[in-house]
Amino acid sequence: MRVLNYIGGDFHTPKSGQFIPNIEPATGEVYGELPDSDERDVVLAVEAAKKAFPLWKQLPLEKRFEYLYAISQRITEQLDELAEAEARDNGKPLWLAKKVDIPRAAANFRFFASALLHFFSESYEMPKGVLSYVLRQPIGIAGCIAPWNLPLYLFTWKIAPALAAGNTVVAKPSEITPVTAFLLSKICQEIDLPPGVLNIVHGYGNKVGEAIVKHPDIKVISFTGGTETGKRIAAIAAPMFKRLALELGGKNPNIIFADCDYETMMQTTLLSSFSNQGQICLCGSRIFIEKPLYERFKHDFVERTKAMKVSHPFDPEAKVGAVVSEQHKKKILSYIALAKEEGGTILTGGTEVHLETPYDKGYYVAPTIIEGLPQQCRTNQEEIFGPVVTLQPFETEEEVINLANDVPYGLSATIWSQNIRRCMRVAEQLQAGVIWINSWLLRDLRVPFGGMKNSGIGREGGFEALRFFTEPKTVTIRY
Ligand code: NAD
Repeated sequence: MRVLNYIGGDFHTPKSGQFIPNIEPATGEVYGELPDSDERDVVLAVEAAKKAFPLWKQLPLEKRFEYLYAISQRITEQLDELAEAEARDNGKPLWLAKKVDIPRAAANFRFFASALLHFFSESYEMPKGVLSYVLRQPIGIAGCIAPWNLPLYLFTWKIAPALAAGNTVVAKPSEITPVTAFLLSKICQEIDLPPGVLNIVHGYGNKVGEAIVKHPDIKVISFTGGTETGKRIAAIAAPMFKRLALELGGKNPNIIFADCDYETMMQTTLLSSFSNQGQICLCGSRIFIEKPLYERFKHDFVERTKAMKVSHPFDPEAKVGAVVSEQHKKKILSYIALAKEEGGTILTGGTEVHLETPYDKGYYVAPTIIEGLPQQCRTNQEEIFGPVVTLQPFETEEEVINLANDVPYGLSATIWSQNIRRCMRVAEQLQAGVIWINSWLLRDLRVPFGGMKNSGIGREGGFEALRFFTEPKTVTIRY
């Protein structure tokens, strides 16, 4: 599988002539390659996007809707092929890619196709014939940079609103999972998306990503990825006065009160801990359990975690697939070693898992539960982004709110209790941009999505995203 850049409606090899090997996490083998692009390819993409912008922004809304809707339909038609590509490229179970990643990518395009028809701006009247109204105009070229954990899902979550708002786009998927973005570019060609409206440049973050951030003609950047990368991007983009949305890391609390609906909580907590190998920014990696429930929860959670099958992505029984790369596997294992040094007890997992050939060189980590760690240790403060959770008991509502908030991050949180007053009281005090009560990962695409503190700035989702990708211009008239 040779991935190519998609620029000006055509497929291109990179200017450097070099390619990066693409590794399949399930087997550890090279199975393809992607362009090792650089600034020159980004410049080409920006030229194409600039050329396409006047046409795209003036297109009747219905026409723009039709293009985006056609992409959505093609994604749905190619669900099997795209899901297989995602599972192979990322290591996630195929059933998960079929159930979540690809349907959601289609939904992103469908949702923003429809949203653009309903988007509105405000107007204000003053007495004696003064009217102000707000034009919401596309900004120009949007730069969209995405991570590897939900490759097509998060890529389209940026691209779709940017295009819906009338911008043209230069986008970069993660170099670790480039394939579904490449398949998306083929879909764009098939549906005759006008050349240059969407351009996809593949390659490393420090070359292609930074060239996108630095390019003076790209005025708006939407980035999802790690907090350190976000800092670097902010440092470059801020003095250039670029509009910036940063969706970064998390260290999310999962707060369980003794009066919760136990079985629903348990089933959901298994998912919120280990889905996608724990590589979802919204996974609850710190589990706080009210003391009277602690021992029962610990026993059941450990037993049910032990029963989760770690296997290759194409095993329908796999609950936990491969983590995304060798480097990432090492990072996760090093955090488990650190947790032991910090005084933690491994209740289950804590090791690599070795499968039979041809998966014996793949990257598998057993779902891991740790207890006995202090709040201030690195394991409880830093994002691991793998199938690793810690357990901490608590006694009072006030105590758990303090513990939950006592990290540099503020992305999401989960609360379990049948006392709805308490849930709402706690939700009000938690420092997180997204909070679920008695549920997890229920996503309504209309609501604002994003984090506070080191989890980022700006919000995606719904009209919030269309506002982000447009420039408000106020016009005041006396009549
Ligand atoms: P990453 O920061 O390493 O990379 C993300 C993207 O940025 C990749 O495309 C990468 O090539 C690019 N990049 C790297 N260096 C760059 C630079 N200097 N300039 C511009 N672009 C650069 O993150 P990752 O490892 O791919 O993803 C995992 C991280 O993403 C985790 O921290 C996770 O929490 C976070 N994440 C956050 C959300 C959210 O919505 N808040 C969602 C998913 C993942």
